[in-house]
Amino acid sequence: SKKPVRVAVTGAAGQIGYALLFRIASGEMLGKDQPVILQLLEIPDEKAQKALKGVMMELEDCAFPLLAGMEAHGSPETGFKDTDYALLVGARPRGPGMERADLLAANAQIFTAQGKALDKAASRDVKVLVVGNPANTNAYIAMKSAPSLKRENFTAMLRLDHNRALSQIAAKTGKPVASIKSLCVWGNHSPTMYADYRFATIDGKSVKDMINDQVWNKDVFLPTVGKRGAAIIEARGLSSAASAANAAIDHMRDWALGTKGEWVTMGVPSNGEYGIPKDVMFGFPVTTEGGQYKIVEGLPIDAFSQECINKTLAELQGEQDGVKHLL
Ligand code: NDP
Repeated sequence: SKKPVRVAVTGAAGQIGYALLFRIASGEMLGKDQPVILQLLEIPDEKAQKALKGVMMELEDCAFPLLAGMEAHGSPETGFKDTDYALLVGARPRGPGMERADLLAANAQIFTAQGKALDKAASRDVKVLVVGNPANTNAYIAMKSAPSLKRENFTAMLRLDHNRALSQIAAKTGKPVASIKSLCVWGNHSPTMYADYRFATIDGKSVKDMINDQVWNKDVFLPTVGKRGAAIIEARGLSSAASAANAAIDHMRDWALGTKGEWVTMGVPSNGEYGIPKDVMFGFPVTTEGGQYKIVEGLPIDAFSQECINKTLAELQGEQDGVKHLL
């Protein structure tokens, strides 16, 4: 049987954590033959640590055969020791009266500390996924704070936007989600993201031709996907924690186990692809194999798409500029 791998999760006692941990421990993320040791991180605050203990009691009570161990941590220095997979979920939410700059600064502090701790203690091949918002910029900060780790091992979650786009297209075309290939989402995990079905196919046929409605694309599809998080908060009174956790599982599973040539969307540091400046943490179409992802290159970008990409890039560069002095 396989040797256990170490999976660290921050914000482990939060909402997304609660929807995430049980699925990791059951083998949905890394495979039904891969034992895991969970390294659970929460803020040192007594209430958070107590809540984390409660989650761990429930994990015990599931008697997961693949759960080879579990640890509770209050600091990244101890929590990321030998970590193979890190899911950075905990982040500072925007409080009442908090300015955008304050939010960026608070998170810059958290993700600088976590990046440094990963740099020092984690496996040299650690795969890092940032879920906590602003996810792309937090991932960028962690990457910049971990100079001895490979930059390509830091990623941000765009998969929820990707999955939201898939399900909107399935509903529009009346075809099953699983039949939709080669969809992607460009840019920032924010309402500026650009979900792009120009290359998508269903049973070999072009989705763009099937839908053939640029007004729907612009006025219905893109706003629906972009504002879906807000729509769920409005309906449920709580944020979209379960679908966010599901997207995190999808992202890590596909990165670790491969996509067999299929495209998925990941937020990854640019190497200059599509004119996105180096190191900008940007949503791109990728394929994965053997634990490595590859950005799909050479796709034609038309005027409308370029405009959308420029907009989401400008937002990301604004965030990046806002934290530059803190790095
Ligand atoms: P959640 O578990 O609901 O959310 C955690 C983070 O995920 C937030 O930044 C949230 O962003 C983000 N997120 C990304 N995508 C989504 C999505 N689709 N839907 C909802 N959230 C999304 O937050 P909780 O407050 O329940 O739990 C957070 C935990 O993290 C707490 O237990 C807290 O103690 C801990 N924490 C840890 C910190 C640290 O590691 N130093 C710092 C602060 C908190 P958004 O805010 O935009 O919704």
